Amino acid sequence: MDTFELIVIGGGPGGYLAAERAGHAGLKTMCIEKRAYGGVCLNEGCVPSKTFLNSAKVLDYANHAKNYGVSVEGKNSIDQKFVVERKNGVVKMLVSGVKATLKRNKVVMKEAEAFIEAKTDEGFIVKAGEEKFLAKRLIIATGSMPVVPPIPGLRENIETGLVMTNREVLDLTEIPKKLVVIGGGVIGLEMASYFSSVGSEVTVVEMLNKIAGPTEAEISKILQKTLERKGVKFNLGCKVTAIEKDGVVFERDGKIEKAPADKILCSIGRRAVTANVGLENIGVNMERGAIITDDCLRTNVANVYAVGDVNAKVMLAHTAYREAEVAVNTILGKKDHMRYNVIPSVIYTNPEVGSVGETLESAKAKGLNAKEVSIPLTYSGRYIAENTDLDGICKLIVNNDTNTLIGAHIIGSYAGEFIVSVSAMIDLEVDIENIKKLVFPHPTVCEIVREAIFQI
Ligand code: FAD
Repeated sequence: MDTFELIVIGGGPGGYLAAERAGHAGLKTMCIEKRAYGGVCLNEGCVPSKTFLNSAKVLDYANHAKNYGVSVEGKNSIDQKFVVERKNGVVKMLVSGVKATLKRNKVVMKEAEAFIEAKTDEGFIVKAGEEKFLAKRLIIATGSMPVVPPIPGLRENIETGLVMTNREVLDLTEIPKKLVVIGGGVIGLEMASYFSSVGSEVTVVEMLNKIAGPTEAEISKILQKTLERKGVKFNLGCKVTAIEKDGVVFERDGKIEKAPADKILCSIGRRAVTANVGLENIGVNMERGAIITDDCLRTNVANVYAVGDVNAKVMLAHTAYREAEVAVNTILGKKDHMRYNVIPSVIYTNPEVGSVGETLESAKAKGLNAKEVSIPLTYSGRYIAENTDLDGICKLIVNNDTNTLIGAHIIGSYAGEFIVSVSAMIDLEVDIENIKKLVFPHPTVCEIVREAIFQI
């Protein structure tokens, strides 16, 4: 049996980066992937959805070109087949990049379903297809899959093609006339934003009374308003009770209503992939279907780590990347740990949302002596120069006791690109007075952070 110092199960962002870093450090490493290297992120998540959204952004610009003194002849429209083909090209390019990097770092790639058979004195026995391998250590990076709740008609209609998950929607070559999105979280909103831009009548049905899950309350309202302006209808505080051939049945305040649909997207959340991996054969502890890990990504079983969505801590690709590095550093005996309080998150709707750290509400709930400063994005010259809808805002949350930033919440152009600058200030605990001395390029939307800092 071939022996590896490390076997990584799963070739998504968590798995491939862990394998790459381990291989680079000289560990004899194998990465086993059952479907497609790059995982959900590259093949059916982050990257495909952003190629879609960029096409919508181009169309939005064309439709509003006259606001900028540009005339575009004829009727602007989307070629959805082309959008999907372009997306496939982008995915192909990135996946081949991942494979090339793994190869360069001498990682053995095995395309098969991995199953952990047993733990022995020599290591862990992993079955991959017809072969068996011995691993001194394991990193579990099996990711997540969409939650499909037992709503009457839901599962059956995934088979008929009426209901889609993130996988099917990103291969849709025709624009539905009426799209109902079940779930007003990030994935649902990004697709609602896309399909409303390209001509669908979009209705979102969400059980909570606000959209975008944990997003700061005022930002969530602004986002809702801007999507409503594009024509998206929101049914908040509504529970879906059934899927019928022609629409989604839901309950609002005890009354039954129906949203007509010719396609339905089910995006109500994701759950860790922990079944059929053999985790019970080695006694890995789990909670609500996800692997329990500490801040070094160790599980309860010595030499077994779990990174990415499978531990369900923060289901984002960049969390998986950083967890992969922390796990490998821990294996290598280098001191490292996760700091989950400074993970930025982005919603790539048009306008974008960038958030990191505490909201005023969450800070107060933790008993922190916090305050909030909120300013409109119109303090930025570039923002006004480049936009006609001017309702973006920037909120900074400050810890009065330490005079440092502990949160930032921004809605408006480029927010997803510059939120990391505030993450760095929070992570490095930079004093507000020192942030005031930083020079920001002008004119940028990012200058909004500097403007807000001077309002504290
Ligand atoms: P995954 O990417 O799920 O990869 C796990 C891999 O393990 C899969 O390839 C799977 O085939 C493989 N596997 C599972 N079981 C086995 C087995 N037994 N043997 C071998 N292989 C196995 N995150 C962001 O940060 N930004 C975004 O903009 C963003 N957009 C998203 C949009 C959508 C539509 C979706 C669905 C997700 C999005 N995410 C985004 C989330 C992001 O995709 C995940 O957080 C990320 O993919 C997690 O990486 P992972 O390595 O943990 O798991």
